[in-house]
Formats: sequence, C-alpha cells, structure tokens
Amino acid sequence: MPQLGFGVWQVPDDEAERAVATALESGYRSIDTAALYENEVGTGKGIAASGIDRDQLFVTTKLMSTDQGYDRALRAFDASLERLGLDYVDLYLIHWPVPSEDRYIDTYKAFEKIHADGRAKSIGVSNFLPEHLERLIDATSVIPAVNQIELHPHLQQRASRAYHAEQGIATEGWSPLGQGKGLLEVPAIVAIAQKHGRSPAQIVLRWHIQLGNVAIPKSVTPARIKENINVFDFELDPEDMAAISALNEDRRLGPDPAEM
Ligand code: NAD
Repeated sequence: MPQLGFGVWQVPDDEAERAVATALESGYRSIDTAALYENEVGTGKGIAASGIDRDQLFVTTKLMSTDQGYDRALRAFDASLERLGLDYVDLYLIHWPVPSEDRYIDTYKAFEKIHADGRAKSIGVSNFLPEHLERLIDATSVIPAVNQIELHPHLQQRASRAYHAEQGIATEGWSPLGQGKGLLEVPAIVAIAQKHGRSPAQIVLRWHIQLGNVAIPKSVTPARIKENINVFDFELDPEDMAAISALNEDRRLGPDPAEM
C-alpha cells in the first residue's frame, strides 16, 4: 500500500473523474473513496481513463454503515465494484463501527468471504477504537490490514497507534491536513515550512510519512494535488518532528466513533 494516497471525500461524482485523473498523472497510485461519498462512478472513470495497469494501482472503498450485516455487506460490495467498474479492490473497509447497532462482527465475516474470494485483496476497518478492534480480532480470523482513523497534529491518536503497532495493523490517517482548517496557519508549522522552503501542507504530510502512517490528503486543485505528493525529497529534523508532536490537543474534527 502506498504511504501517500488521494482522498475524494466531498468531491462530487462529476468532478471525481478529473480529480482522480489529475492525481494519477501527478504520481499518486492509491485512491480512497467510499460508497457514502457517492463518487465511486466518477472515481472508476478516472482510473479507467488513466490507462495505468490495474496492478499498479491501490483502490480503497468502504461499506456504508446502513449496509452493515452479513448479507447486506455482500450485496453492497457487489454494487461498489460495479460502480467502480473494477473486478476487485485492494482494500475494503467498514466505514464506522456503529457500536450501538453491534453488527460489525457479522459484517466483517462477510468481508472475510470477499477476501477469500479474492475480490478484496485486503480488508480492514475505519474509525474503530481499540476496544472495537479487540472484540473483532477475538471473534474473527483475518487481522484487519488497516484502521483508517482521523489523524493530524491536533489529534495524534497515540493510544490507537500503539495498539495498531502491537497487532500489526497499519494506521491510515484521514483528514491528515486537519481539513485545511487552521492547522496550516499554526506558527510552529509555518516556521518549519519556512525553514525547509516548503508549504505548511507539505510539512504536515511529511510528518505523517516520518511517523510511519499512511496519509490520504484531498484536494481538487491541480497545483495542490501535485504539491501534496511532493514530500519524498526532503526530511524533517528530529526537532521539527518534536515541535509538531507537541501540537496534540486530542481535538476531533469529525464524530466520536463511540457515539456515531
Ligand atoms: P484533508 O485533511 O485532506 O484536507 C483537505 C482540505 O485541505 C482541502 O479541501 C483544502 O481545503 C485543503 N488543502 C488540501 N491541500 C492543500 C494544500 N496543499 N495547501 C492548502 N490547503 C490544502 O481532509 P479530508 O478531505 O477530510 O480527508 C482526506 C481524505 O480522508 C478524504 O478525502 C477521505 O478520502 C478520507 N476521509 C475518511 C473518513 C472516514 O471516516 N474514514 C472521514 C473523512 C475523510
């Protein structure tokens, strides 16, 4: 799985084709969509138009919470593949645990079948707290490859990252730029950007990379799409990493998975 991917949340279906095509031209090889985003069709068109060999790409989609449950998940997966125009995905995720409905174990058993059939090369979860993962791992046989969680300098998710490392689960950060809201103007980040002659977004993405996480920034602006992947030719110093790590506020932008 590439460490940097392209996210398409809130990209309208009719813009997704162009955004995905721009990302693939810019060198991204990993695309993150979801049934909930209602842009799997446009995403699939962008992938097809790129002409890039399928085995060079890493495509992730996610099961919508209303489709949890064994049979519903199987049907929803078929529909996602059809919308994407693909015969397999590289990663299929349960979008949210929804503990109040308590269906994620049955849902994941359907994911294990999809995985065994080779139609999802890997399976995992999103927004799972360690307590949800613990239960899932006890009740099923395939350890989730990935947990995709909200993660940025204001919400560093240390407990989840430590638990994932223990279990061999990759941590993938969503809203890695803090949705561009305020984080990119934080003085410590701006100062590190000036020091390296890079943009604040590049500094934050480089921090994710050096932490060892997967990050999936989103933009529909071609210059930013290119800027966000151009983070593999410089390195943050230990003091830069420490200064960013000191910005943690355990502050979520999105919902709390325990209550969602
Ligand atoms: P993000 O942190 O990637 O921020 C995106 C916003 O930051 C853009 O809309 C733009 O306003 C700004 N931006 C992007 N590049 C910039 C640059 N170079 N300079 C300045 N500003 C820039 O936020 P996101 O879209 O919420 O998250 C990324 C992806 O994560 C989504 O597209 C989606 O694929 C995934 N995601 C998953 C979940 C989940 O529940 N699993 C939830 C939210 C997002």
